Amino acid sequence: MATATLPPRVRIGATQLLINNEWVKAASGKTFETINPATGDVIAEVAEGDAADIDRAVKAARAAFERNSPWRRLAAAERGYLLNRLADLIEEHADELARLESLDNGKPYEIAKAADLPLTIACYRYYAGWADKVHGKTIPIQGDYFCYTRHEPVGVVGQIIPWNFPLLMQAWKLAPALACGNTVVLKVAEQTPLSALRVGELIIEAGFPAGTVNIVPGYGPTAGAALARHMDVDKIAFTGSTEVGHLIMEAAAKSNLKRVTLELGGKSPNIVFADADLDAAIEGSHFALFFNQGQCCCAGSRLFVEEKVYDEFVERSTERARDRKVGDPFAEGVEQGPQVDQEQFNKVMGYIDAGKQEGARMTCGGGRVGDRGYFIEPTVFADVNDDMKIAREEIFGPVMSLIKFKDLDEVVERANRTVYGLAAAVWTRDITKAHAIAANVRAGTVWVNCYDVFDSAAPFGGFKQSGIGRELGEYGLQQYTEVKTVTIKI
Ligand code: NAD
Ligand code: MG
Repeated sequence: MATATLPPRVRIGATQLLINNEWVKAASGKTFETINPATGDVIAEVAEGDAADIDRAVKAARAAFERNSPWRRLAAAERGYLLNRLADLIEEHADELARLESLDNGKPYEIAKAADLPLTIACYRYYAGWADKVHGKTIPIQGDYFCYTRHEPVGVVGQIIPWNFPLLMQAWKLAPALACGNTVVLKVAEQTPLSALRVGELIIEAGFPAGTVNIVPGYGPTAGAALARHMDVDKIAFTGSTEVGHLIMEAAAKSNLKRVTLELGGKSPNIVFADADLDAAIEGSHFALFFNQGQCCCAGSRLFVEEKVYDEFVERSTERARDRKVGDPFAEGVEQGPQVDQEQFNKVMGYIDAGKQEGARMTCGGGRVGDRGYFIEPTVFADVNDDMKIAREEIFGPVMSLIKFKDLDEVVERANRTVYGLAAAVWTRDITKAHAIAANVRAGTVWVNCYDVFDSAAPFGGFKQSGIGRELGEYGLQQYTEVKTVTIKI
């Protein structure tokens, strides 16, 4: 296992709750430990928010949303300037934040620096640009009336984010909400609270008025659930498991019918035709599955390969997985760090067992790497069929499942035989096949001859049980405004 030659010089920032631009303890006084997944060591104690803290944060967000508050008095363009200032501050501290992200989450530092940070910064800048471009229409209704629409902020927005991309998920949530003039209570994941709290310090430094952004670390069933059922929260935006997505919607239904957007799990089909550029398809499919330790909602976790090239594809994908460099997230050239925590480690190992028991052929991996931390060998299963657990359920780890198919109609039907619909990909040189997959696979994103291409301007979200609504792009903005119709007699 690769180890770092340099100690990970990481500066730990805030560890308390951010409410009304102040750092405060939890009402209960409780704290929880956040763990370095590469070693299992405690990094820091973090204030543990619960219902009382959520309530306090919602009150601050509500006050900040009141008419004539400093936040509401800002011109739309000024909200954009603030978001740009925040983006600049994150850029200034990009190296520090990449280290903190790597320490708390386990993702390789070099990758955090090259991917998570630039995408985070671009997202704030993208929505900064939108702040003064969100506007309604004038509508030619019948009679002597002047009719127009206003796109107003929804109000106090509750946001709950997962641990797989802490900084990026914070940006996807905060940037569009703030561009549209909402105020926010953000519940960060208990596994990875540190980078979001450090950004909280930068939010204050950027000059956002008190109460605009409140950040409450804490557990899901306590702090998260309190936010989802709160009677004075106007909208809840959630990213995480489909299981919890159901709970969020239920809480909204049972409380005040707050608006709900969900970005949930997936079991995305990645389809390789025999006519594809195989070198590109093998490397692209490796990336599609193993990127971020396999902890991606859109991971290409059902890898369908056309019969004619199946054996070659299995052999070469196995070689590539064997070459994958696993180790200390701060060591140079490391491609894969540990899973985020013991629970995820156990869950992934459980799926590896299930794969073996159900008769899939394991061609590499399957074990733990090292004797501390939550490292798992890149694992490949061949001869996987559609009914196996590893082909149906979200594994969220470095486990590839290769499935054989014969022709286009068959693969479309099988690709769609899932409760999920987040993403899909196709590798082919035949434009007709590419269009057929793009048009007929029921998923929110389809990549052709590429995978995991993200841009703040391109919407992302799920069909079916992969979610409700879209994030990013102009579509993402619509989820953060209410439309008001104004009709004037003339
Ligand atoms: P999770 O859905 O439990 O957690 C995501 C967020 O929701 C966290 O902030 C958590 O504290 C919060 N949460 C949990 N229970 C809640 C509740 N009852 N009410 C309100 N908020 C609640 O996910 P997890 O347990 O960390 O991971 C389990 C599985 O979920 C993973 O193995 C993976 O399959 C999936 N997952 C998906 C994504 C994604 O990006 N779509 C991200 C993380 C995990
Ligand atoms: Mg952690």
